[in-house]
Amino acid sequence: MPHRKNIYLFYKQTPEMEQHVQPLQTFLKENGFHIVTDLEQAHIIASIGGDNAFLQATRKTGFRDDCLYIGISTEGLGFYTDFTTKEAEHMLHAVNNEQVEVRRYPIIEVSIDEEPPFYCLNECSIRSNVIKTFVIDVLIDDFPFETFRGDGMIVSTPTGSTAYNKSVRGAVVDPLLPSMQVSEIASLNNNEYRTLGTSFLLSSQRTLTLKVVQDGNDHPIIGVDNEALSIRHAEKVDIKISERQIKVLKLKHNSFWQKVQRKFL
Ligand code: NAP
Ligand code: MN
Repeated sequence: MPHRKNIYLFYKQTPEMEQHVQPLQTFLKENGFHIVTDLEQAHIIASIGGDNAFLQATRKTGFRDDCLYIGISTEGLGFYTDFTTKEAEHMLHAVNNEQVEVRRYPIIEVSIDEEPPFYCLNECSIRSNVIKTFVIDVLIDDFPFETFRGDGMIVSTPTGSTAYNKSVRGAVVDPLLPSMQVSEIASLNNNEYRTLGTSFLLSSQRTLTLKVVQDGNDHPIIGVDNEALSIRHAEKVDIKISERQIKVLKLKHNSFWQKVQRKFL
């Protein structure tokens, strides 16, 4: 990072945020960074805010694999934020003293009806938008695995495993495992309808296909991280771990499992 110093600051432009950002900008300029407003010129993309700001920053900048992402929080530390605006000196000290490392995080690639893909850092979720249950055929590498009937399904990355996935009792997955986890939201299980009933983990070699059974419930809500896709109709959703990964700057002594402990235990 030190010799590639063009930094793009991604934040919600409100008067309150400017109060956090102004001193940080001054600090960065004093320390040899160039604040750029053209994304094309950026080597580093810093999100300022919480985890949701980081999710927005990766999405709005197109999940660049030639940039380094940094999550800077305005409050406490989160899952994607290893630094805070209040401790900019600490951040620079860590960078200059090799207390930081670059981690590659797996992201999920979602293609709907063979269209160009969307990427997700946390998860892709698919839910019915009506009160009736909806039905999805679940295929693993084209093998018909199960037929799901219920509210919906979540496919999460390892770093997303602590978010929505965890709320439906999915497992927390080490981000060093490039994998995706498939979790159910309120599946109907009886003598007629049967699904595995537990979450399962797929390797990065697999493709998961969700086919929305077209029985009038064919307008599901498809969420990619914290955004809903504005797609009116979806039949076939292909999901896999992308070959692309994002690079994130983190503190060495702030491992994923320390974050999990800090947030949940
Ligand atoms: P939000 O509704 O404000 O956030 C939900 C919470 O999830 C916030 O506390 C957020 O942290 C946290 N979070 C985000 N990513 C996380 C991660 N990887 N690990 C642990 N916690 C995480 O919406 P948002 O902040 O834009 O976050 C979007 C995420 O919310 C979605 O990607 C989805 O995972 C999650 N979500 C959860 C449920 C549920 O649990 N029932 C339902 C819908 C969506 P910050 O406060 O730092 O933003
Ligand atoms: Mn939030």
